[in-house]
Amino acid sequence: MLELNKLNQLTESHGELKPGHGMISGVIALALAILCFLGVLAFHFPEYLTTPQLRKSYDVGLMRQLLYWAMVLAGGIALFNIVFGRARWLAFGAFVLIGLTLALGGHKVPVNDFADNTPYIGLDWFILDLLGSALIFVFVEKLFALRRDQPVFRPEWQTDFHHFIVNHMVVGFVLLATNLLVHKLFGWAARDGVQGWVQGLPFPVALFLIVLVADLVQYWTHRAYHEVPLLWRLHAVHHSVKSMDWLAGSRQHIVELLITRTLVLAPIVVLGFSKEVIDAYIVIVGFQAVFNHANVSVRLGPLRYVIVTPNFHHWHHSQDDEAIDKNYAAHFAFLDHLFGTAVQSDREWPERYGVVGDYVPNGFIRQFKFPFVWKP
Ligand SMILES: [Zn+2]
Ligand SMILES: [Zn+2]
Repeated sequence: MLELNKLNQLTESHGELKPGHGMISGVIALALAILCFLGVLAFHFPEYLTTPQLRKSYDVGLMRQLLYWAMVLAGGIALFNIVFGRARWLAFGAFVLIGLTLALGGHKVPVNDFADNTPYIGLDWFILDLLGSALIFVFVEKLFALRRDQPVFRPEWQTDFHHFIVNHMVVGFVLLATNLLVHKLFGWAARDGVQGWVQGLPFPVALFLIVLVADLVQYWTHRAYHEVPLLWRLHAVHHSVKSMDWLAGSRQHIVELLITRTLVLAPIVVLGFSKEVIDAYIVIVGFQAVFNHANVSVRLGPLRYVIVTPNFHHWHHSQDDEAIDKNYAAHFAFLDHLFGTAVQSDREWPERYGVVGDYVPNGFIRQFKFPFVWKP
């Protein structure tokens, strides 16, 4: 199986894909084909492979269209590359997967009524978020690149992609666990009077308040992760990324994810924000969590003292002396200026990213075990 060997080599290597040899188009076709194949599986087993919170708001017709055009695009590119002998092995892989997708019914799989309370993995969330994020952020990073010589497939991208896959697949478990924990631990604090007042606030005011409250909790939780040695073991994993881009933020220990989400969600649930406000907040967190790590040169002028930018969070990941244990905020930079933890530097951007001493191992499994086995 020469093709499989080559594919293995590709996923284990990293670096720039040279244009003109069918590699870039081949990788795009193969990635799309894999997503198509996973998509058709989600159509067949929606009760186990889709997220209930998402599937309620799907337009099934639109999803079918998306799958159809992804198949056409991936199949078209693959066919072109096979005919013209451009990285045939890669195109061939994509072609086989599109064939399999079609054999399984493609975009025409009927969706019948199904039970709503089965255990599930968030395959749909993984497919849609990967498709959307890759489309938007690879484009934005090429347009406004901070480090132009950093390729999309930079060192250790495989580890971060592995984190991305797992974090998206376990979304159901995380939602369930955080919901349960929030209600068990903080349910007693809810007051009707307070909730009524919060629900009566105009939308922009409520949105500002929810982001402020969430970021205040996030700031102190984050600071604790840095200042309490036991917690740093978990958080060191996030800080071990040495290349910053849209995928880098995915590197996060699952236990840290659970603790932080529970603590940040607690005041939001207790204060009783409306669904519209919470939805808007989720969009903001989702965007900033990715954008703040992206390889983009955005500084916002004086607004950078108010809003967290990629520049602000890149400094948080820096190894430079003046940046250690600084810039904790995720949304509002003024929190760090207020609490005296903002980075002061005469340089615009940091030199090097990662933990000083580089003691966190590379690889998803090793990073999962790291907090429990590390002997400093
Ligand atoms: Zn940190
Ligand atoms: Zn970060």
